[in-house]
Amino acid sequence: MTQTVQSDTFLVSRNCVKLYDGVTLPVPQSIQATTVLFDSPNQMLPIDKASLTAQSKKLTQRFYYGAVDTPTTFALADSLCMLEGAKHCALYPSGQAALHAVMSVVATTGDEVLVADSVTYTTRWLFDQVLARAGVSIGYFAPTDLAAFEQRLSARTKAVFLESPGSMLYEIQDVPAITRLCRARGVVTILDNTWSASTLFNGFETGQIDVVVLSLSKYHGAPLGVSGGAALSNDAGLHAEFRHFGALVGAMLSSDSAARIASVLPNLRLRLEHQAATLARLLPKVAAIVGEANIFYPAHQSSGQFELWQRDFLGANSLITVRCPANSPDDVGAVLSRFRVVRHGYGWGGDTSLVNAVMPNRERHFPVAPGDTPYLRIYVGMEHAMDLEADVVHALERAVR
Ligand SMILES: *Cc1c(COP(=O)(O)O)cnc(C)c1O
Repeated sequence: MTQTVQSDTFLVSRNCVKLYDGVTLPVPQSIQATTVLFDSPNQMLPIDKASLTAQSKKLTQRFYYGAVDTPTTFALADSLCMLEGAKHCALYPSGQAALHAVMSVVATTGDEVLVADSVTYTTRWLFDQVLARAGVSIGYFAPTDLAAFEQRLSARTKAVFLESPGSMLYEIQDVPAITRLCRARGVVTILDNTWSASTLFNGFETGQIDVVVLSLSKYHGAPLGVSGGAALSNDAGLHAEFRHFGALVGAMLSSDSAARIASVLPNLRLRLEHQAATLARLLPKVAAIVGEANIFYPAHQSSGQFELWQRDFLGANSLITVRCPANSPDDVGAVLSRFRVVRHGYGWGGDTSLVNAVMPNRERHFPVAPGDTPYLRIYVGMEHAMDLEADVVHALERAVR
């Protein structure tokens, strides 16, 4: 998938829903279908396992059973392939469903999966509570210690799961180095690339990753309130199994959700750039209040991983975590309650800026951040930079006075 043009809008809109061969609608359409009718039985696929996951280039040959796929879901999958630089994309109703499908296909009873300790808490719970129960052995490793990771690999290791940057503190893993070690041993590598929103890190080229998993419920779909998930790969066999697993357990993305996510993909990069620029304006103000060492953001010069971030990433997103100074005169609850423009809530990636108290060390096997007090995770949305700045400065300044 070589990108000869620089415009995501072109890449994405070129693939909007094909109604008939030769006729394409530039605005994604929701095509709800359970029953699919054909003019002739000769156009139909046989009722068998291969048809369930058929992906012929010919439109009528792709359409099997509308609850599994519609031209709309194919169009979204094709657009995500272009953005992520992958050959294949399987869609799911959430990131969590995508993770579950991928891990269920890749690992089975007796296999060992090594997991970066920086994964988001719901991923940790999926591994510890669902995969472990299926007899998969789960081992966590310190996400930034390459030597320790290499030691941890064994003949039993089937797959390695990465999330880079990690949730909460954004530790960057040396993905190319990790995948090099895994390739040599035939270990499957999986990367949760949600932070990068199909824009900031190329898992296949830069990362040499086997499978990229996405939550589409953040920057992709959150502005419209839509959840989704995706599993991307370059291996036709793996891809067929991902699609098949989703179809068998009934974890399919609806045509309506696919159409809505596809409709905001053309401005994904613009939103990310704008929001990151707003955060870049805030950053020095926040640093001046809480101190450089209390800021967690990969694009921050003093992050300790700035060079790795510069080497591998095309930009940063608009999530930042801040540690309230230890001598703060009030508790975190009092700090939180002073935010007005930045709202209290879950589910980042949409237009609304959010602040949450998070416990980055809780449940970790390799704690990295100092202290066991809550940190503030701030998501910068689409509000005006000056409003956000006044709000954040007001809330934090009183905390250190
Ligand atoms: C939100 C999130 C998920 C889970 O995705 P859902 O679509 O909410 O199920 C997985 N990984 C990361 C990094 C996330 O931020």
